[in-house]
Amino acid sequence: MGIVYKPIDPEKEGIEDLEILSEKLLSKPSPGSAGKTGTWRLYKPRILVDKCIKCGICWLYCPEDTIAWPYRGLPSINYDYCKGCGICANVCPVNAIEMILEGE
Ligand code: SF4
Ligand code: SF4
Repeated sequence: MGIVYKPIDPEKEGIEDLEILSEKLLSKPSPGSAGKTGTWRLYKPRILVDKCIKCGICWLYCPEDTIAWPYRGLPSINYDYCKGCGICANVCPVNAIEMILEGE
C-alpha cells in the first residue's frame, strides 16, 4: 500500500498549530563543526515553479527544515543548509522538484 498524500487544510487542521510545531518543536538548521551543511551536497533540489501547486508537503517533510513555505505560496530552499537528501523531490505529489547535480 502506497503513501496517500493529503493537502494541508489550515482551516480544518489549524495552521497556527503547524507554525507552532515548526517554530518550537522542529530543529532549525545551523552550522556543524565543519561549517554550513549545504557543502555536503552532491545533488540539489530545484523547484519547478510552473508545476508547483503550493501544497507545502515538501516543507512538511524536509528533515533539515530548510524549506520555507509561505502559506499557500511558493516554497523556497535555503541552500546554505539543504543536504540534498532528495526527500522533498520524492514526496512532492506533482513532481515539481527535480534533483540536479550541484553546479549545474
Ligand atoms: S533535498 Fe533534503 S534537505 Fe534539501 S530541501 Fe529537500 S528535503 Fe530538505
Ligand atoms: S514543490 Fe511540490 S510538495 Fe512543494 S509545495 Fe510545490 S507542489 Fe507541493
